[in-house]
Parts: sequence; structure tokens; C-alpha cells
Amino acid sequence: MLETARQFRCSTVRPTELVEGLIDKIRDDSLNAYITLDEAGALRDAKKAETALSNGSDDTLVGIPIAIKDNICTRGIQTTCASDILKNFTPTYDATVVARLRDRGAIIIGKTNLDEFAMGSTTTTSNIGPTKNPWDETRTPGGSSGGSAAAVAAGLCLGALGSDTGGSIRQPASFCGITGLKPTYGSVSRYGLVAFASSLDQIGPMGRSVRDVALLYDAIKGHDPRDSTSVPRGYPAINLEGTDIKGLCIGVPDEFFAEGLSPEVEQAVRQGISMFEELGARVVPISLPSVRYGVAVYYIIATAEASSNLARYDGVRYGVRKDGSGDLIDMYMETRSQGFGSEVKRRIMLGTYALSAGYYDAYYKKASQVRALISKDFTDAFKDCDLIAGPTAPVSAFGLNEMMDDPLSIYLLDIYTIPANLAGLPALSIPCGFTGDGMPIGMQLMAPHFREDTLLGAGMTFQDHTRFHEVLP
Ligand code: GLN
Repeated sequence: MLETARQFRCSTVRPTELVEGLIDKIRDDSLNAYITLDEAGALRDAKKAETALSNGSDDTLVGIPIAIKDNICTRGIQTTCASDILKNFTPTYDATVVARLRDRGAIIIGKTNLDEFAMGSTTTTSNIGPTKNPWDETRTPGGSSGGSAAAVAAGLCLGALGSDTGGSIRQPASFCGITGLKPTYGSVSRYGLVAFASSLDQIGPMGRSVRDVALLYDAIKGHDPRDSTSVPRGYPAINLEGTDIKGLCIGVPDEFFAEGLSPEVEQAVRQGISMFEELGARVVPISLPSVRYGVAVYYIIATAEASSNLARYDGVRYGVRKDGSGDLIDMYMETRSQGFGSEVKRRIMLGTYALSAGYYDAYYKKASQVRALISKDFTDAFKDCDLIAGPTAPVSAFGLNEMMDDPLSIYLLDIYTIPANLAGLPALSIPCGFTGDGMPIGMQLMAPHFREDTLLGAGMTFQDHTRFHEVLP
């Protein structure tokens, strides 16, 4: 992005040219990364950017084409959540994050593919079909923000927004060899994000480098009175230049190198951690004893909240309506039976069960209590270190059709990303190597609440001394 911003200033490239080029590429794209391309809007905004540039605007984001995950509302542009139930839904307002990007002069080029309602890890449950991984089209890009990750990796946009409830920014970032940040819960407004699990959902940026991600994070962060979970506090501008990681203490939890971790991923991540040591950081072993319950806790809390959030799709207020044999209940049933895909239905049923009378204490309440223990593990660990490092996912990108009939195995892949959501912590995935067959591997860094500056500073230093993020598919 910085390079493009510079090219705009010396007029070697114009925003309109850039957007036209991207539109052509997206039209020919075999990845299925986009659900909607806003050609007219993007060209209109590119012209505006040209005017701003000729008036001397020095905002780096002016004229930069950004893709938005299709569960984030965009005024006048369809927002489908990759679900039949919302396939005709066009919001009348922009999500706060979108409005903030537009205010800075960024161009919204289109809406990217995802697992239906962001429930998944593969971008295969979309109603328009799967997105493919640009490194190997027979493989998944990860998910649920797989469209955003693939679009960034394949150069179909310069940066993107995703959402992360249990790993949906970081895991596809790791599978596609890009950088992705899940910010601190409450630091980026969720106004206009279609809710999946409200106590976990967070919007965040995805880009080719930590610098790009930091630019986008800087633009979207900050208090928003329209989101009651947005934290009112100061949000100083992120300034990464001059970052020094000498003496920074990085904790490495044993629990993040557990059974099921691919040896290739382990080796690349351990080498990444050694790289930090060479750069002057101190590495210490730490323990997070309760994170082993993370997946179980998450799939109770996330499904419970989803069952409640998705009750609003009843054929009356939003999207598609299917008439049944006549009465209202029948209409609800037909709409929801036909409108939701099978993974979404599975989640609604699991969540409804967990919340039902007689089971609430055994499931939701117990899960909430264990969630508090997981948070406490992190609070304790951050007394001894500044950052925590480990793998983003236990494996690299796998075949598009693998594990499709085995939801539990797919849920287990979220083991390393879920804890940051349960504890509300910021976490970053950066490329740290490749498998023997050339697929990217991601390393995850986590920081205390609101310490995106430390997180991004460390990530940037790593990228200044490694080339993994520069290798293209
Ligand atoms: N893979 C997780 C799930 O299926 C996370 C999804 C997300 O972060 N949106 O729920």
C-alpha cells in the first residue's frame, strides 16, 4: 500500500488505472474470492481519489482499493453473508469500519466470500461455492474470511477486512501467506457487522505486510457510540517506525505445541521464534493450563450466541421469505429451512440445546466459567512476558474436499486461535515459512489487551528481517 501511495504521488499510476486493472483481474479470477464486485462505485471513488491527490492529499489510504468481507454492511452494496437467506439484502447504511475507510479516501472494490455467516474454517459452506487457495487451487484458503485472504494473496485488492470470532482472520491469513490482525475486543466497532457470536466477534485488517495491516487498523480502530461493546478510551495512532524489540519478552506456551501439530508447522514456528531471539527478544517458557478446554468452551458459547443472533432471520424483517402452507409458523419454518445451509443449522441446533431449560447451567454457564479461567491464564502469563508466540493453526492449507464430512475435526483446527477470542486479546498471524510442498505457514503472536502497538511492532521487525511475506503465490 505504501508503495502504491507513493506511485500515486509521482503519477506513475493513477487510482482509476489501478481499479480498472483490478476489475479485469477479478472478472477473470478462478478463485471465487469475491461475491460482489462494485465496479461503478469503485470507479466513481477512484475519480474522487484522483481529485484529492491532485489537491495534494497526503493520506496514504487515498485511492487504495480495499475488499470487505460480505458479512460487513456496505450501503447500497449487497451483503449476503454467503447465505441464501440474505441473498437479496442490501443495507441502507455502512458499517462504521467501512465509513471510516471511505472517510480516509480508500476505495471499496467489492465484497468477499466467506463460510455462510462466518461459521467455518474453509470458505466451503458459502452459497456461491468455495473460494480456492491461490497457492494451490485444489486447496482451501482457510476461513471463514477465505475470500479476503485469497484476494489479498492473489493481488485482487491491496488490503481487506475480515471478521474473527474464533480465528477467521488469522487462520486464512496463515493458509494464504498473508498478515492478519484480530484486534482487542472492543477496539474496533462492530456496528454493521452481521452478528455471529457477539461476545467473540471482532473485525480486523488483512494485508500483504504488517505495515499494511497497521495502516488499516489505524483507520478503523477507536470508540464508536453505536456499538455498546466499543471501549471508550484513547486510541493513540500506531507508529511503528523506530520500534525496537531488544529485551522484549516472548512467552512460548507448551500447550501450543501439542498433539496434532504438524511437524512442518512446528519447525517453521520454532525457527520464527529463534529469529525473534536473534533480533534481541528474550524467549521464556510459559504455561496456559486452561486453554486445553478452549475448543469445547468456544463451541458452546459461539453456538449459543449464534442461535440467539440468527433468530432474527425469520422471513419478516430481513432477506428472503418462503411462504409455507399458509400460517405464520409455517412461513418461519419454510424460510429458515430453505434459507440456511446445513452448517448454520447445525450451529443453531447445538446452541439452542445448550441454552435450553435444564441444560443452561451444565453447558453455557459452565463454559462461561471456564472462559474466565482461560482469561486468567493469560493475565497471569502476561505478568512474565510481553507477547505470546505459537502456531496460528496446527496444519497448513488442506484439500478443498478433505474433512468435509467431519465437522469435529475441522472444529479442532481452531485450537490455537480460539483462546485470544475467549480472552478478548489482540492476535496477529504472520507468514513464517513454507511446507515441503510450498504452502505457507503462519506464526501467531498475542498481546495483552490494547497492545496492538507491541504486537505490530514485533511483527514488523520480523518482516524487516525475513522475506516470507514477500513471496507471492
Ligand atoms: N472456525 C471457527 C468457527 O467455525 C471460527 C469462525 C470465525 O472466526 N468466524 O466458528
